[in-house]
Amino acid sequence: MAGFTTRAIHNKYLKDDAHRSLHFPIYNSVAYEFETAEEIEKAFLGEIPSHLYSRITNPTVENFEQKIKNVTDSLAVVALSSGMAAISNLILSIAGSGDNIITTKFLFGNTYSLFEKTLKPWGLEAQYTDMTDLKKIEASINKNTRAIFLETITNPQLEVADIKAISKIAKEKGILTIADTTITPPYLFRSRDFGVDIEILSSTKYISGGATSVGGLIIDNGTFDWEKNENLKGEAKKYGPFSLIKKLKRESYRNLGACLSPNSAYLQSLGLETLAIRADRSCANALSIARYLESNKKIKDVNYPGLESSSSYAVAKAQFPKGAGGLLTFDLGSKEACFNFINRLRIIRRATNLNDNKSLILHPASTIFCEYAPQLREEMGVRETMIRLAVGIEDIEDLINDIEYGLEGIQ
Ligand SMILES: *Cc1c(COP(=O)(O)O)cnc(C)c1O
Repeated sequence: MAGFTTRAIHNKYLKDDAHRSLHFPIYNSVAYEFETAEEIEKAFLGEIPSHLYSRITNPTVENFEQKIKNVTDSLAVVALSSGMAAISNLILSIAGSGDNIITTKFLFGNTYSLFEKTLKPWGLEAQYTDMTDLKKIEASINKNTRAIFLETITNPQLEVADIKAISKIAKEKGILTIADTTITPPYLFRSRDFGVDIEILSSTKYISGGATSVGGLIIDNGTFDWEKNENLKGEAKKYGPFSLIKKLKRESYRNLGACLSPNSAYLQSLGLETLAIRADRSCANALSIARYLESNKKIKDVNYPGLESSSSYAVAKAQFPKGAGGLLTFDLGSKEACFNFINRLRIIRRATNLNDNKSLILHPASTIFCEYAPQLREEMGVRETMIRLAVGIEDIEDLINDIEYGLEGIQ
């Protein structure tokens, strides 16, 4: 079978383009016309495959979904307006009031806020445990648990759990394994090989091709028996493996309206074609920078799962053989030292976001996690003295020189 990049580039269109355009066109149309009233009735009943209205399906978005399906060997893919839309639409489809999801406090800040501020008041609870402790995970599962939700490399703690071992427990208990693979998207991580049933990710990051647009993906590996989920039992009898996709398309995806715009789908399709070469480069850059920082006496606690000194090294190597992503953290003596260092940089940019072509830096405690009390931040593994660097694809010598210059300004 052809490799990842070949498959990403040479994906066959579902329907031929009238002009045989080599780029799939951007269909910026809301609605699609039918010849007869009978035909539009059939389209509404789902008896003929067609596009009706772009909040539900759009040809350019569908083409992007097909490309992702092709490179992941998954059953079905839904593209949404953002990573957060992917997470919320998925959770609302697989769990309801009275149910719970097992997860960890080592979560992207907005995902934690989704669980605590948005879903909890509606009766859907997150239970926080330690994803590196299989016994604790197993003990937290009860009859109302619908899924285990984890990030492949947690942002910004960079913890890596043993996903195969966790998914084994989930399978025994008949619950879903859901992985947020934003930091290690398809190409870096083959989610289906590690027992992940549903992969969700922010395509805003690596896939968009240099922070060109916001988007999210739900990737269904087709490995879960939907009869085992209370919320999807009804669908399971009718639609079998396609139950989740049907439910999304008829309920949360349709009713919440978080669809991806055709322009963004086009940009993200282009981004996917170069994902592998950009990911290779940023992983290699990140490893070089991590090694450089580790050898520098001014730096404490360099954390990168691709470093031999990392407690996650062995699991990361097994799960992400092509590279441990582009995200690393390190500590300086104080918050002030962090700010001084960040302010001196001339190439690395002061911005949130990650997996851009540009290297981006920030101080998580005072930015992404600023709304949380110091005690909770501590529990979330976010230290006052920690800097997060999202490594881009610039020339490595220039990045190291920039860091060296930044460090000259601090004690
Ligand atoms: C950025 C991010 C998200 C949210 O994605 P958006 O596209 O910004 O909505 C979710 N999870 C992780 C790990 C992220 O880094």
